[in-house]
Amino acid sequence: MTNKFRYFIANWKMYGNLNSLKSINNVIKFTKSNSKKRFKLIYCPPYTLLSAFCAKLQKSSISVGAQNCHEKNEHGAFTGSVNAQMIKNLGVKYVILGHSENRINGDTDDIINKKIKSALNQKLTVIFCIGETLYQRNNKGTNKIIKKQIIKGLKGLKKNSKIIIAYEPVWSIGTGIIPKNYELEKNIKFINSIILKNTKLKKFRILYGGSVNPKNIENLNTISMIDGYLIGGASQDPKKLIDIIKKSYN
Ligand code: PEP
Repeated sequence: MTNKFRYFIANWKMYGNLNSLKSINNVIKFTKSNSKKRFKLIYCPPYTLLSAFCAKLQKSSISVGAQNCHEKNEHGAFTGSVNAQMIKNLGVKYVILGHSENRINGDTDDIINKKIKSALNQKLTVIFCIGETLYQRNNKGTNKIIKKQIIKGLKGLKKNSKIIIAYEPVWSIGTGIIPKNYELEKNIKFINSIILKNTKLKKFRILYGGSVNPKNIENLNTISMIDGYLIGGASQDPKKLIDIIKKSYN
């Protein structure tokens, strides 16, 4: 197996409390003793744990990301919201935007575009999620929806904007079902070509997300176009997360 650089992004969703911080001790040890391996691990806990994660991971190579942010740059009367400035202020370096679980809750492509610009403005790196639903896939609508999400979501971005793409078929998230290799290859190629044709971005990595686990990781790693993974469920179990990374380099 090659020593390819890969991202591993741990999306904890709405899970975790201060006690869960102990659970990452072994992951920290693992990254320290595997510092020669070319990977970047990023923990994205809920807002309530961002500060604690930043403090705990300060001396490690692991970074911290938020799972969302508000589209407004400035502060204001937006009860329950957190903006990119507030996230940045904690020492957070990344933010996940466009996740399907937030698209379902009202994040349109235009709102996501505003959030991306606001996050980039604060020098956060954006993990931009795109992907089709099962209905869209079954009705041969995958390319159309992905193209729309990219064109609208990345509209007006500068050439060097720090964007990581996470291709996450919605029907794969939390279901245990992943696309066949040929389908993933085809869709990732398509994503790459649409970004190059329709945006100013030249340098970006494309990750896969959806039910990644220690059982399917070796197969996924055979797809050379995948630059890493956005991992939900399995990332909350330190053993599984370590196993996923280990199996990517052994
Ligand atoms: C996700 O939260 O983006 C995700 C891919 O979840 P899971 O790995 O649980 O499918």
